[in-house]
Amino acid sequence: MAACIFCKIIRGEIPSMKIFESEKTLAFLDIGPISKGHSLVIPKFHGAKLHDIPDEQLAEVLSVAKRIAIAQGVEDYNILQNNGRIAHQVVDHVHFHMIPKPNETEGLGIGWPTQ
Ligand code: ADP
Repeated sequence: MAACIFCKIIRGEIPSMKIFESEKTLAFLDIGPISKGHSLVIPKFHGAKLHDIPDEQLAEVLSVAKRIAIAQGVEDYNILQNNGRIAHQVVDHVHFHMIPKPNETEGLGIGWPTQ
């Protein structure tokens, strides 16, 4: 979708810190991180809400979020996905927040998932 900020990221029209990309899925660092390493995992298929996205376009998303957690070396994290303004959705392209909650013995920055 032409005006969608996340579609622009997918197309490379605006910069982002991409950490994973495949045919159907993109992950990149959140510009306003809640915690260090906060990333967003998105289907490349444009849709505002979860029910707008065909299942096959979503199939990889949780797997990528899981691989980010493993690569970051965190055991504690939140995966959040908001639908609609009342639910605090701001960007109308489905995205899953992957928010690490590292404790004192865990580290971040071990790496990123490989393709
Ligand atoms: P909320 O801001 O309430 O979490 P969303 O669930 O719609 O609402 O989340 C949108 C997320 O997209 C925010 O965490 C925001 O920091 C992030 N964001 C917005 N623009 C960009 C961008 N250009 N690059 C990376 N992340 C972005």
